[in-house]
Amino acid sequence: MTDQYAVIGNPVEHSLSPAIHAEFARVTGQDIAYVRMLAPLDGFRESVLRFRDGGGKGLNITLPFKQEAWQLAEIHSGSAREAGAVNTLKFENGTIAGHNTDGIGLTRDLKDNLDCPVRDRRVLVMGAGGASYGVMEPLLRELPQQVVVANRTLDKAVALVAHFEALQKFASQGISARPYSGLAGARFDIVVNATSAGLADVMPPLPREIFAPGSLAYEMVYGRRTLFMEFAAGCGAKAADGLGMLVEQAAESFFIWRGVRPATKPVIDLLRREGGGRRAEG
Ligand code: NAP
Repeated sequence: MTDQYAVIGNPVEHSLSPAIHAEFARVTGQDIAYVRMLAPLDGFRESVLRFRDGGGKGLNITLPFKQEAWQLAEIHSGSAREAGAVNTLKFENGTIAGHNTDGIGLTRDLKDNLDCPVRDRRVLVMGAGGASYGVMEPLLRELPQQVVVANRTLDKAVALVAHFEALQKFASQGISARPYSGLAGARFDIVVNATSAGLADVMPPLPREIFAPGSLAYEMVYGRRTLFMEFAAGCGAKAADGLGMLVEQAAESFFIWRGVRPATKPVIDLLRREGGGRRAEG
């Protein structure tokens, strides 16, 4: 019998996940069906349990339900535990297991697709929302020199840094929070835009000198060239969007569910040829 999976969110109609997982299933010969599931904003839990009780094997979780998914999960993998958010649920042996594959998606895209190792590099993460929480632990495990978190609302960046304090040791110069106005004079090798500003065609106020020579500007939004990407390219940095992260996090979810690791590069190339999606999810 075909195993059932879905991505659940609100909104969810533009999600690329069904296309990605259909391609993974085709090339690995796995017999799965994967659909979009719109949950009412006040009906996440009921929607998940109905899907599971109907025989569903697993779900991807997108905005705005990743924290609710964390609460619903009965056991948490390391990354999900650290992030306080879940983007992958697996239903097995009567339990609901929660995972977070967003951070692995980012670090794999950086290292494997963009030839941009994190080790000993200076990393700036812009934004202190769910996406930033999701990527901090995997980023720190890559042993960067430092991670600075900048956010429009400074208190949230301070809270994020406090949340990950126990993992400070993985960055030789530690982790810290700053307002954008406190970035003058600083240089970074990797600048990650984990804000949703790109969706509204705005960008956080960055000084032009923020990009060290040879640096990478990573935009989590995909399917469009954002102001941040334009700005970074104009400052001499290499700019990448978040499509690779999306495919890599999906591959990790697929592995968690099926025990098979699909090749990602052909799927990234396929989606780019098809236009790279219309809007961001994550
Ligand atoms: P979120 O929890 O809503 O957080 C949004 C963050 O953006 C907050 O830190 C917010 O700052 C900041 N922000 C919003 N507008 C801003 C502006 N005009 N100027 C400066 N900062 C601004 O969202 P999220 O879940 O973290 O997601 C962030 C982005 O990552 C979304 O676009 C999402 O689609 C994308 N994402 C992509 C992937 C992928 O696989 N490619 C995966 C996950 C997420 P304040 O705290 O000051 O409000």
